[in-house]
Formats: sequence, C-alpha cells, structure tokens
Amino acid sequence: MNQVVSYELRDGIGVITVDYPPVNALGKDVRSGLADAVRTGLADAGAQALIVIGAGRTFPAGADIREFGQPPQGPALSDVIDEYEQGDKLIVAAIHGTALGGGLEVALGCDYRVAIASARVGLPEVKLGILPGAGGTQRLPRLIGVEPALQMIVSGDHVPAPKAKQLGVIDEIIDGDLLEGAITYARKLVADKAPARRLRDVAIKLDNPKLFEEFEASIARRQRGFLAPFHCIKAVKAATELPFDQGMERERELFMELLVSPQSKAQRHVFFAEREAARVPGLGRDVPTREINRVGIIGAGTMGGGIAMNFANVGIPVRLLEVKQEALDKGLAVIRRNYEGSAKRGRLTMEQVEERMQLIQPTLSYDDFKDVDLVIEAVFESMDLKKQIFAKLDEVCKPGAILASNTSTLSIDEIASATKRPQDVVGMHFFSPANVMRLLENVRGEKTADDVLATVMALARRINKVGVLVGNCDGFVGNRMLHQRGAEAVALVNEGATPAQVDKVLTDLGFPMGQFAMSDLAGIDIGYSIREERRKAGEDVPPSWMDDLAKQGRLGQKTGAGVYRYESGSRVPVPDADVDQLIAEFRKKQGITPREISDQEILERTMYVMINEGAKILEEGIASRSLDIDIVWIYGYGFPVYRGGPMFWADQIGLPSILEAIKGYHERIGGEQWKPAALLERLVSEGKGFGSL
Ligand code: NAD
Repeated sequence: MNQVVSYELRDGIGVITVDYPPVNALGKDVRSGLADAVRTGLADAGAQALIVIGAGRTFPAGADIREFGQPPQGPALSDVIDEYEQGDKLIVAAIHGTALGGGLEVALGCDYRVAIASARVGLPEVKLGILPGAGGTQRLPRLIGVEPALQMIVSGDHVPAPKAKQLGVIDEIIDGDLLEGAITYARKLVADKAPARRLRDVAIKLDNPKLFEEFEASIARRQRGFLAPFHCIKAVKAATELPFDQGMERERELFMELLVSPQSKAQRHVFFAEREAARVPGLGRDVPTREINRVGIIGAGTMGGGIAMNFANVGIPVRLLEVKQEALDKGLAVIRRNYEGSAKRGRLTMEQVEERMQLIQPTLSYDDFKDVDLVIEAVFESMDLKKQIFAKLDEVCKPGAILASNTSTLSIDEIASATKRPQDVVGMHFFSPANVMRLLENVRGEKTADDVLATVMALARRINKVGVLVGNCDGFVGNRMLHQRGAEAVALVNEGATPAQVDKVLTDLGFPMGQFAMSDLAGIDIGYSIREERRKAGEDVPPSWMDDLAKQGRLGQKTGAGVYRYESGSRVPVPDADVDQLIAEFRKKQGITPREISDQEILERTMYVMINEGAKILEEGIASRSLDIDIVWIYGYGFPVYRGGPMFWADQIGLPSILEAIKGYHERIGGEQWKPAALLERLVSEGKGFGSL
C-alpha cells in the first residue's frame, strides 16, 4: 500500500491497518492508502472478508483538519468510502479509541462494525462549524433511524460503545484482543453467509412528518446564531426526501457552504486557540508540576462554594474554611442544593451527590491546612483582609504549597508581599458561577515560580476548565476589557440610547446577555460601592444614573429590579418606565439633550473600545497572544464561538476600519480609552492583523 496503510492476510481474512500516528487522521496518504488496500483485499482470492482497523491508540479519529482551506489533494474521502461500500466482500470495521467524523463515516461504509467497550464513536463536525461531509448525514439515519441520527449529528457528542451498540451503530462489543475478536466475528459472518449491508440501499423511514420542525424548535435557543446545526438538520432531511446519490450531492453542497463560511473559520480558530492557550510561551514542557492531592479553600460564599465543587467533581478532597459556623453551614447548603439539582436533572446519582459532599470537609481552623498542596482564597474583595489571610497561610502551610487568590481586581504582587514565599503565590481567577463557567484566568505575579504556573495550568485541565495565563494588572484581561465596555454602555445611555437598545445590539452580535442585564445579574451595588470607595479616596468619579438606581435599592435580579424589572422570580429582564424616567431626570440634571443613537454606533463604541483595550493588553504583555484574549472572552463572558473571539472578530472586520473609527471617537469623545493603542497603529501600518502576533 503505502507507509501509512498496510494489508495482510490472516486466517483467510484480509486485514487493512491504518498506522498514521498520533490519531490515524484521514489525511491524503491515509485516504489513498485505504483505497489501494481495499482494492488489494477485494482482489485477494485468499481473503473471504476484510477488516479495517487502526494501529496504535485509535481507529481513525477524524479528518486531518490542517488540510482545511488547502487545495484538495488525493482521493476524496467519500469516493474511498464508496469503494468500501460497493465491494463484493463483507467488510468489518474494528474500532478502538475514538472513531470520530470521517473515521465513523469510513466505518459506516463497511458492512458491520465491532468495537471494544471503551471505544467511542461520533460525528463532531458541527463543533467545527461544518457537517459530516462524507456520507455521515445520509448513512447514519439509514442505519439507526432519523431521530437518533439527528441527535448524534446535531449535538456532535461522542457516544460510548455500549450506548452505540444499543443504538445500532455497533453490531458487537469485543472482549479481549480487538483484532482476534474481529477476525473471529468476520469468519462467523462468512460461515453464516451473512448478507452484505450497504446502507445506500436501505430504505429510510420517517414516522413523524413534523420531526424536523420539532427538532429545530428544540435547539433554537441553545444554538441561536449558529449555522452548522441547522445545516445538519437540512442534510438529514435530504436523506429522507431524496435518493441516496442525490442526498449525497445535497450533503456536499451544504458542507461546502459551511466550509467557506466565516463561522466555520471562526470555530476552527477557537478549536486551535483553546489548545494553544494551554501551551504558554516560555514555559517549556520540561517545567515540572507540583503534585496536588488536597486543596484548601477559604470562604464558602458565591465563589468559594463553586470552586470547591470543581475539585470534588474530579475526586480531589477539599477543606473549606470560614470564620463562622453559620457561614460554613450556609455555604455547604448551597453546594448540596446545586448537587441535588443536578441529580434531579439526571446528571448525577444520589450516591454521587453524597460522595462529592463527603469530599468537601468544612473547617473553622487553619490547623486543617497544614497538609494541603494548594490553597485558594475566596473571601471578600479587601486587600487588608487578603493580606492578613496570606500572612496566616505563610505560617501554617507546608513548604511548597501553592497559595492562590481568586481576587478579581487586587494586585497579586501586593497580596504575595504579605508572605515570605512570593514564588508560591499566584492568581486563580474563576468566573461566576464557578462550577459552571469554563474559564480560569491564572494570574502570573512578578515572582511566581515557573513550576507553580505549570501546575495551575495543568490543574485547569484536570478540573475541566480552560486555563489562560495572564499578567497582573487591574481587572486582568477579561474584566479590564469589560470595564471599558461597561463605561461606554453607560455613556451611550447618557447620550440618548436606552439600556435595552444597547443590550439588543450585544445579544444580536451573539452574546447570551447584554451589558445591563449582566449588571443586574452581578448586582448594581458592586459597581456602586467601588465608585463610592474611589470618591471617598478623593478621585474624581462623575455621577451616574446607575448610582441613583443603587440608592433606590434597585440592586438587580436579587431585589427584583435594577436596570430592568423582573417579574416575580423570573430572570427575564423587562424594560421599566420608572428607569426611563430616572435616566431622563439624570440627563436633565447634567444638562444633556438626548439624541438618536444608531445601532452601528452602539456596536462600534461597545466593541471597538474593548478591542483597543485588548491591543493595549497585548502591548503590555498582560496577554501573550491575541488567541488568549479570544479564549478569555469565549469561556468567561459567552462571546459567540462562531465569531471566534473579539480579536479574531476584529481581524475579520479589518483593523484599518476599526482604527479609523477609534480615531474618530477619540476626536469626538476623547479619553484614554479611545486613544488608539500603539500596537493597533503599528499593525495597520504593516498591513497585519492580531492573528499575526
Ligand atoms: P461572597 O461575599 O459571596 O463570599 C465571601 C465569603 O468569604 C463569605 O462567605 C464570608 O463569610 C467569607 N469570609 C470573609 N472573611 C473571611 C475570613 N477571614 N476567613 C474565612 N472566610 C471569610 O463573595 P464572592 O462573590 O464569593 O467573592 C469572593 C472573592 O472572589 C472576591 O475576591 C471576589 O472579588 C472574587 N470573585 C468574585 C466573582 C463574582 O462574580 N462574585 C467572580 C470572580 C472573582
């Protein structure tokens, strides 16, 4: 064959082996090797049936996505699969590891499929903004029925082999050696004169004519804005309406539309960026990590409780410390309620709830922190309090323990200065709700040791978070950019926009909620108390209508009213005439005559101000790459994945036009936030984008 696909005869069965480490991806050599091998096998008089199997750790785990965007080379996968399907000998796919995407499509071109119990199968293309383009959308519904196929294709989820057997994707689970088992299975098929199973010839049944409409409605909210899930549905629908070959053509058309769409480009960027974020420049793979077997958390409030759950979820024991028993009891009750909620939704068993609760040991004493490997502090946002706590940790914790703070705004270096071991101090900034949001901004202090950084980055993955390493500054990456967007949103309302208009522009862009709905969720009092502190410290902080809301006790969702009104218990923001009135009075007092503000101006001012700040963040080295900023915004703030993150989005719009707009706003509005970042000017003059950095 060639170097990556081999053929040999074993016990009267022709065995085709793909050996293309690490994951047997279906690059051009694998595709042509597979085509040659099946021709050889079909022509081999000694072979009564054929088997396709992967060497190493897996069956082909998907397309070689690095070929995307390159001119096509070698045979198309769907042509190769046709040869398998049309062959006049039985072919068995023998699956271990993960048969994903094109890998599963190859298996669907075979007559039968066997797998070991630990294998997983799936068609995850939708997650890259595309669809299975080598017959997956046409063959899978013929094999397992339309609705289960829609579920698999539209979710892109991996299905474990036992479940795949129930669904009918897998015919038999093999115990013991896969190849031996597959040979025995193939020999039995031959002995039994088992029929060929060409999925292209299978008639498709659609019991519920409304299925597609209903399915679309069921995903409409969660998949808002995404193209690919809806194209997947169209492709499966085509399988039910058209003969196989025409269905394949329709699949190809829909696939091509997605492949060239900006969405799929953005989703592929996110796929790579997420992996790249874990590889920190200057922090080699040879940097050792410290062992983390036991964690201490200080503060059982909103954040501390959620953080504790992350560790308990992966079996790491936690000691949770508070100053008062009541606070501890309250914190644990919230954790239990969260777990029981998951159990009610069928995501956990009650046994698992108890196991996890057992892993979280409450304490009022620092003596229980003597043997922990990592402490995460999550008490009130007060520098004095945090310094006292870190001084105490310095006394009680064993040498080498990592001392982390979950602070959102305070300097990690100043906190570290309260200890004699600043090399062990680091920021671990979780996002609320901490048991749900995937982002973990790990903050590098001036003196933080490399092995501490390597440890917290590895730990992120262990607790199923996406870790991004950032530098120490006010607000780090995410909140520093958010702060600029927030100030601009308020300014837009001052000038004449309504909060709902501003929020709609942001939700239309794809954010799950707008700036003001987010303020209501976090609490209006947070910003107010920060502004009041700064005023007390003598800073010139201008008055805001948001202060007036706080003074009226409209603190957001928790009080049933903030920028919006919330009907009893509901989380749906409803615009409120009282707030319009309050804003109108504020404008009058300030002598502002309101004007019409266009949605385009809102979009530019809220988003470009963030991009300008992002450029400054890059310039200062607070983020080392623009992809780190993209990942922070996608996993911490719900930036739409299909737009690739704010910096990727900016590159798509084009930096010259963004810079021009920023300069215009700088002239008109002034302020440090609109002063064009030097990096942005340089990139524009060099004709480059953020992605080039
Ligand atoms: P919170 O008020 O809900 O919880 C703080 C907890 O700390 C309370 O339960 C309190 O009893 C406890 N506590 C206070 N002093 C203590 C002490 N000396 N020893 C032990 N426990 C003590 O606050 P939160 O929202 O969980 O915020 C905690 C930290 O996380 C802050 O630094 C905050 O800036 C940061 N943070 C908050 C969010 C958020 O969205 N809430 C997001 C990221 C980071």
